[in-house]
Amino acid sequence: MKRKTPSCLLSILIGLAFLAGTLLSGTNPARAAGETAVVAGTSVNVRNGPGTSYGVIARANLGDQLTVLDQSTDWYNVSLSNGGQGWIAGWLVDIQQPKAAAAGAGLVAVLNGNDINVRGGPGTSYGVITQGGSGDRFPVLESTGDWVKIQLNSGTGWVAGWLVSLETAQPAASQPAADEPTPSAVGSVGSGAKVAVVSGSVVNVRSGPGTSNAVVGTVTQGNSLQVLSQSSDWLQVSLPTGGNGWVAGWLVALKDVVSEPVQPATGQTDDSEVSRGGDRSDDSRDSDDDNDSNDSDTGRVLSMNVQNTASDQTTFTIRTDTPVSYNSFFLSNPDRLVVDIQGVAPGELPQTKEVSSKTVSKVRSGHFQKNPDVTRLVFELCSGVQSEVSLSGSNKTLIVDTYIPKLDGAYKNKIIVLDPGHGGPDPGAIGPGGTQEKTVTLDIAKRVSKLLEAQEAKVVMARSADTDVSLAARTDIANKNKADIFVSIHINAHTDPSIGGTTSYIHSGNGSSGEASRLQESDKLARSIQTEMVKSLGLRDIGVKQANFAVLRTSNMPAVLLELAFISNQAEEKLLQTDSFKNKAAEAIVKGIGTYFMQKKTA
Ligand SMILES: [Zn+2]
Repeated sequence: MKRKTPSCLLSILIGLAFLAGTLLSGTNPARAAGETAVVAGTSVNVRNGPGTSYGVIARANLGDQLTVLDQSTDWYNVSLSNGGQGWIAGWLVDIQQPKAAAAGAGLVAVLNGNDINVRGGPGTSYGVITQGGSGDRFPVLESTGDWVKIQLNSGTGWVAGWLVSLETAQPAASQPAADEPTPSAVGSVGSGAKVAVVSGSVVNVRSGPGTSNAVVGTVTQGNSLQVLSQSSDWLQVSLPTGGNGWVAGWLVALKDVVSEPVQPATGQTDDSEVSRGGDRSDDSRDSDDDNDSNDSDTGRVLSMNVQNTASDQTTFTIRTDTPVSYNSFFLSNPDRLVVDIQGVAPGELPQTKEVSSKTVSKVRSGHFQKNPDVTRLVFELCSGVQSEVSLSGSNKTLIVDTYIPKLDGAYKNKIIVLDPGHGGPDPGAIGPGGTQEKTVTLDIAKRVSKLLEAQEAKVVMARSADTDVSLAARTDIANKNKADIFVSIHINAHTDPSIGGTTSYIHSGNGSSGEASRLQESDKLARSIQTEMVKSLGLRDIGVKQANFAVLRTSNMPAVLLELAFISNQAEEKLLQTDSFKNKAAEAIVKGIGTYFMQKKTA
């Protein structure tokens, strides 16, 4: 089977082509203005006409966004970045509909803290693209839920609405005085009674309009609060407990009391509540510089002692002058353990403490809440680290133990389907030295299988010889065996031989709520394996990517597709021929799987 471009993805894309062809053949709807084609293959030909018989005039890369001009059966006519235009196969792109008119037109998002993550999508499960610092300003494009889409210098990103202030994009001279109501992201309160229905899971109530004011309480999703006044994006509301306070306008929905019955907001998951709770630490940091000397009659932290109790274990001992209780939770990407100590102020604790340890890089502390006091500690964990929190010494000593878990037992009785890519008449990609992808993927999968079986996992191979197995049959095997996870092993290829590196893929998602939790688990599994592969193979870290690959789409369980290296890169092809590299790859995959199961067990 000859091909011009050896591509690991080819047989996966054939599966896609079949689906796209079925859906699109014979149709030729008028193109809506503003549709975007997002390239779903690693290197996709752009041709001067709608079909493979036309010449190649350019190539588009994975993730490129091209404006759609026209369509002919399953080919799209697109604008190119060089100003020209060409045709691209419909089964190699995802078509995105034009967005509704930008909700945030004319607004600017101003970041309220340092190291604020800008993500690829509206939620903490999306990867971090870049970070911004306090006072950074970005034009607002739109908002979804509590998340705000912003224009970056190049491209776009998403930031959490509770970590930014929204301002109108007007010259400073034309803005009203600060204490007058200003045009707002949430619309004007205007005349007539309004209620604010809380849309965030847990939202801070502050003593004034802005995150620099103290938190005086919290309200929860669905609470209806009578609106008393408005200042910029902030609303002054009556509290259910009596009294009043200020809430951020982007965390509530404004309702007219007279004309609309109040509907509680729905659709928040428990996960988002945990994330929001964690990110509130950022929100609260700006009040850390408050003078705590007024708190002398309340409890405080006396000391925090750090001890490396074993080579892969570090124990933190926090002593307080009064009995405390605590609440702890875990945040991923990056991994953090958050411990809220109830009943004490931070005292002399440093805001940031660097730690020399294999498990924790630093500990941040802050005065998370006053009246009653809560001290928040955020432990920045190294990858795969586990933790235990306990109280002793008449509840005046809090022990935080962090350790690298022994993976024994993590795999026991887990059903793991390994899918060595390609096989039979399909060699997959072929390296410059003649190495065939199908041979390497089977070799490494067999090594992975041996290691997993030694740990008492139940391994099912989608193929265990050089045979032709369809993509549908591979996921059928996983679905019928009710596998815990599906791991597809591939080697990447690119027309540019200088390109190398390690990538993990998860499915791009179909937007259904059932798919969301599977995707989240797939993402955790992929990150866990990617981390270990990058650590042990030492190749370029291309990261965890999303793609609409058939085996990721049709499997019912957490599923990942690993591209260990580039066979088209001469140096990496040589590595793929060595036992040492193949063993390292197998061990890394096994370790990543074990860490994933271990985290799931203790989560
Ligand atoms: Zn492949």
